[in-house]
Order: sequence, then C-alpha cells, then structure tokens
Amino acid sequence: MLTIHHLYADMMNLYGDRGNVISIKKRCQWRGIPVEVIDVGLTERIRPTGCDLFLFGGGQDREQALLAEDLSGSKGADLRAIVEDGGVVLGVCGGYQLMGHSYETPEGQKLPGVGIFDLHTEPRRPKEERLIGNVLVRVRAPETGETREIVGFENHGGRTYLGEDVKPLGEVIVGYGNNGKDGTEGARRLNAYGTYLHGSLLPKNPWLTDQFILNALRRTDESFELEPLDDTTEGRAFSSVAARVAGRR
Ligand code: GLN
Repeated sequence: MLTIHHLYADMMNLYGDRGNVISIKKRCQWRGIPVEVIDVGLTERIRPTGCDLFLFGGGQDREQALLAEDLSGSKGADLRAIVEDGGVVLGVCGGYQLMGHSYETPEGQKLPGVGIFDLHTEPRRPKEERLIGNVLVRVRAPETGETREIVGFENHGGRTYLGEDVKPLGEVIVGYGNNGKDGTEGARRLNAYGTYLHGSLLPKNPWLTDQFILNALRRTDESFELEPLDDTTEGRAFSSVAARVAGRR
C-alpha cells in the first residue's frame, strides 16, 4: 500500500495543487497498486507507514506563517528525518519555500523553514513585480540521466536562492523560476523535490508523477517496475502548453 500524506491539504492548495495528489492516486489505481491518501493538518503528527509520499502545495503568506509555527517543533524534525532517510517529498511554491532555511514576507516577517534544502527566500522589493506566468523547465532526470521538460504555472513574490548543498530541479527555458535571475527552477536533494510550478504540476507531466511513485515503491522493493500507461491525453495536455509557452521564447 502506498500512502500519500497530503500535508495541510485544506490550507495549502493554491491553484489546485491537490491535483498532484489526485494524479499520483489515479496512476497507482490504474495499475492496481493499493493507495490511500491521509490528510495531515495543523498539530497532526506525520506517521510514515513504510511506503510513503509526502506532498504540500502552495499558499499565501498568512497560511505559510501558520505552517512555519506548526513545523517549528517535532513535526519539522520528523520531516527532516524522513528526507534524510530517503523519503519522497514534494513541496510546491509556498510549501517549497518552507522546505528551505527561511521565507521572508514583503512585510519583513522572517518565517523559519524546515531546513530540508540549503536555500532561502527573499521578498520582492517594492518596485519588483510578482513572478507570474507559464513556465517551461528542462529537468535532467537523476534516476535515468535523460533530459526531459516539464510545464507549469508560477505565481510567487518570493525570490529563492540556492546554497551550496542543494541542486536545482531544472533550468528555466521560459519563465522566471526560483528568482528570475539565475535561470534555476526548484530544488532537489535525495528524494526531496521543490518547485514553483503549479498547474497543478503532475497531471501534465506524467513521467515525473511516475518517477515519484517509483521512488516511493522502490523503498520497499528495489526491483519494482511500473507498467506503462496510455499517456496520450497527458501528452496532448503537455504539448499544447509547452508549444504555447515555447512560442514565447
Ligand atoms: N506566498 C508565497 C509567495 O508569494 C508563495 C505563493 C504561492 O504558494 N503561490 O512567494
């Protein structure tokens, strides 16, 4: 049984990020892989079952302040331990920002992050715009080394800067990414992933969804293989957005 832990499901679901949970669940069910979803709210402990995937989505500064408080104690320590142990975690935008050392709001409130990634997020300056739009990113899939592209939508004021001990998820082909300056998007360390891509991300990027599922299932069975699915519809959705976005190059 694969357990999807949906962290702060009712609070961190900006731009339908819950679609990531639905995509993972359906791609398991279509293959006959038993899967359950557990919502993990404020003050609730994270309880790994041994075959897990942890996701949290995007949210506004107000929700992020509540999360920062909730993750400042043993819950954040549990999440760090899960990552160090190779657990599969995906944070999107506001959730991603809190996987770093800190997220500073435009009002100057510095929220502590969980410290999974060596990165920090600074606020947009008064004259700076929010970073908004469709995004096309080139990702080198670490598991296979092949280069793939992912598409999504970003809307964030925060500018995220990576430290030494973390790799970007990919490089921006079109869009802003982490900060609109250094061409990086997202972050990746062990099996922890962070990205600014809403959309939601996974339904249009089925290969990435399957990579997360496989990484989680192989923690209990290293030889596990996923049977292929007919991704015609997902491929059309990806291509239509990628073509539109790439046309802006
Ligand atoms: N509040 C954060 C920012 O504006 C994240 C927003 C989001 O999750 N889309 O940078």
